[in-house]
Amino acid sequence: MSPYYNDKTLIFADGNYLSPTELKGDSYSQTLHYGNGVFEGIRSYKTATGARIFRAKEHYERLIYGTEVMNIPFHYSINELIDITYKLLDLNGFQDAYIRPIVVAGANMGLGSAGESSFIIQCWEWGKLMGDKLLKVRTSSFQRPNPKSCFVDAKVTGHYINSILARNESSVSGHDEAILLDINNNVAECSGANVFIEKDGQLFTPPKGHIMPGITRTTIIEICQEFGIPVEERHFTIDEMKSADSAFFTGTAAEVVGLKSIDDYVFPKSWEETHGYRLMHLYKQEVLGERSNNYSKAI
Ligand code: PMP
Repeated sequence: MSPYYNDKTLIFADGNYLSPTELKGDSYSQTLHYGNGVFEGIRSYKTATGARIFRAKEHYERLIYGTEVMNIPFHYSINELIDITYKLLDLNGFQDAYIRPIVVAGANMGLGSAGESSFIIQCWEWGKLMGDKLLKVRTSSFQRPNPKSCFVDAKVTGHYINSILARNESSVSGHDEAILLDINNNVAECSGANVFIEKDGQLFTPPKGHIMPGITRTTIIEICQEFGIPVEERHFTIDEMKSADSAFFTGTAAEVVGLKSIDDYVFPKSWEETHGYRLMHLYKQEVLGERSNNYSKAI
């Protein structure tokens, strides 16, 4: 029994809506052998007016960017992609859902461009990934990839080996997650989310360059700017993180989730008193399209 589908589930595959069990994969696909595929992780939320896909345009722009830099053919427009995704949610009867589009490169046992691709969208009903508890994280022994060795800002399937290694290491040592440093020993991000720290009432998050520039990260920066919460994109070290008052992760899956500790350092500020906590509530309103512009109403 799959945790992702049942006998009523439909997926989109190259123009057809079919059961995941009817999908024919190509065992010669370059994605399977070399990790050259591009995907997205998108959320849809149940609202009073029906399913609302959060920042669908931005997610599909990032998908298209990934196919361009990886030279994988892909010919859908953003509007087509959004229409297909809403139709798929509707066919499945989903509103609160996680949506996973993937561009799979065609058969090629060599390293040149595969020349053709398949496009699949899967979705499943979904609650919260990490829940409301504060996370206990560690510094990973794995670095984020050098941006000169790949396009770190593209959501390429093969890049996730790095995240899987970091996540496995963190679970073995009894942690919920891992913080990965960049090649210059600055804090980069978590295995699948971006990181913010709070120090003396000011937020800091690593700049673009060595990170996946998360759509949630951008949303949070925009909310901060709107509400006058000071936020700066700049590098910081793990030692600096260990002198912060609090910290949180942002991502489509995680939304905004607070950290309890990093290695032996416990963040001293009570989560309920941090900017992160307020942003967590503002973000929840933002995704539902019902954000109040009154800061105090956010909690
Ligand atoms: N970093 C990594 C490595 C990720 O995989 C993700 C998830 N796409 C993020 C950050 C957060 O990005 P987003 O807010 O767009 O989900």
